[in-house]
Amino acid sequence: MENIYRFTLEKLKKYCIEKGYKPFKAEQIYDWLYRKRVTSFMEMTNIKKEVREILKKDLTFTQLKVLKIEKDKDVHKYLFELIDKSKVEAVLMFHDYGNSLCISTQVGCNMGCTFCESGRLKKVRNLNIEEMVLQYLQIEKLEKKKITHVVLMGIGEPFDNYENVITFIHILNEGKGIGLGSRHITVSTCGIIPKIENFIEDGKQVNLAISLHAPTDELRTKIMPINKAYPLKELMKVLQKYIQKTNRRLTFEYIMLQGVNDTKKCAYELVNLVKNMNCYINLIPYNETSHIDYKKSSSDSILAFYDILKKEHIQVTIRKEFGSKVSAACGQLRANYEEGK
Ligand code: SF4
Repeated sequence: MENIYRFTLEKLKKYCIEKGYKPFKAEQIYDWLYRKRVTSFMEMTNIKKEVREILKKDLTFTQLKVLKIEKDKDVHKYLFELIDKSKVEAVLMFHDYGNSLCISTQVGCNMGCTFCESGRLKKVRNLNIEEMVLQYLQIEKLEKKKITHVVLMGIGEPFDNYENVITFIHILNEGKGIGLGSRHITVSTCGIIPKIENFIEDGKQVNLAISLHAPTDELRTKIMPINKAYPLKELMKVLQKYIQKTNRRLTFEYIMLQGVNDTKKCAYELVNLVKNMNCYINLIPYNETSHIDYKKSSSDSILAFYDILKKEHIQVTIRKEFGSKVSAACGQLRANYEEGK
């Protein structure tokens, strides 16, 4: 039996046709799932009972178990347990421009970024499509608030789970379902070049963010092992291609680590790396955790770094810090829960 939340509208139409129903039936089902948000076929009252019985026999509904919710004024963090008892996090952030949900795409992560709490747990498996869809649906239901933006930046490397992530984006995007606009969806990658190539070919209009975090190969390889396989020169080449093909602005994420990548020298190296690119840099104050030695850059260093970029005409922002009362680093809620804190 397949999970209903795995179906794009096209796939559901195909299923309906195979069963001898009109494709319009799929649109009705989609409306119940994503507009009326029912959680059983029996609630789909404008569909004949015999048809509902068949749907019930063929397809399943599931829900994720909510293990824990931590709340601060501008951030709510959710810890979910999946069917195999794996745990993942999703984070809802309240910005002045809307409510942004950060979703996990894998259980653990194999990319090994040295500053990352999520990556301390090696990848156990990819998340299924429905496990990503349900993070969105369940949080929206619990919060009774519209989620206006989705970022795929939680636990896991989205492009290491490429097919499921692209289908998930498709489902979010579907005008007859959730209908979240492409520009309200951001997918983030540490720089897996072949998948960026695929992403360019797929022509999805969603935003692309690159976890850069260092301006030279030497430093980047030290803190992000993926850089050995896909060094900066090649990465920048494919990103130029992305910008040319899509005409879209790229985001670079840059976590500020005290004494590691926050020096003035790094700022000028970063300017050299990205100048003339249609991009902006998002400077992110680091969330310290008890398991990793890196320290957060001081406010003065962050501001000095920001000023250099600004003066050199690079578009740059400093990310607002969220929730000191919650387990702020991605992966920290899961780690604390498992350690019984
Ligand atoms: S930062 Fe992202 S890609 Fe790197 S280890 Fe953490 S989850 Fe994986």
